[in-house]
Amino acid sequence: MNLILLEPGDFQSADSASPRAARLAQVRGRRLQHILEVHRADVGDVLKVGMLDGEIGEGVVLQRDESGITLDVSLHRAPPPPLPLTLILALPRPKMLKRTIQHATALGVKKLYLINSYRVEKSYWQSPWLAVEQLREQCLLGLEQAVDTAMPQLELRKRFKPFVEDELPAIAADSLKLVAHPGTDTPCPVDIDQQTTLAVGPEGGFIPYEVEKLQEAGFQSVHLGPRILRVETALPVLLSRLFPGR
Ligand code: SAM
Repeated sequence: MNLILLEPGDFQSADSASPRAARLAQVRGRRLQHILEVHRADVGDVLKVGMLDGEIGEGVVLQRDESGITLDVSLHRAPPPPLPLTLILALPRPKMLKRTIQHATALGVKKLYLINSYRVEKSYWQSPWLAVEQLREQCLLGLEQAVDTAMPQLELRKRFKPFVEDELPAIAADSLKLVAHPGTDTPCPVDIDQQTTLAVGPEGGFIPYEVEKLQEAGFQSVHLGPRILRVETALPVLLSRLFPGR
């Protein structure tokens, strides 16, 4: 946790007439545990804090005990810019889903569609990790890791064909459209400066029919070389190749 993410509800005196009182945040729960056990912060220490979907700054520890920490918060800089990317990701298995969402969030993805594909096991859609609160938690972990505050928008689409035929054209309009597919002829481009829509397949890969449907929607198949990577590895490789330094 490289950033303590705050939410409006943490500011107990948000309605206070006193400007100082309005800056005081109470941190409890998982964040408190982390501050006490990892940062080992004491009164007077300064922690990096950010407001969810807002600015980043500092929080001075005013008071601490086992039930909570009071921070005097000042926010003054914007979070890092988002990647110019919409990610279309075939739903990974639950364990990998958690890590992949965290990685995608930490890497600056702000718009992510989790979609069905022939090789996505039906049982994956029943996973409790797909609950809104669970997905949000993984996004928070990614934001805290990367010192970012902008919550990604996640969408679930359980049917491949209607998504690709009816929705994807508008989602991907005016963007560079790429589908990561091993064994294809074209290498993934490097350092592009363009809004991009990137599709990444499931563990077993997209089937030929799905690649054809994506190509009909204007997507070009690209590869990352001869090695076939796990989704959670392929994603950071793709993003750092497309957008190095972002
Ligand atoms: N046997 C599958 C295949 O050949 O398509 C492997 C799928 S791979 C484990 C999962 C996804 O990661 C792929 O569908 C693709 O989107 C991406 N991926 C992994 N390695 C890749 C590579 N070398 N080139 C392009 N995409 C890759």
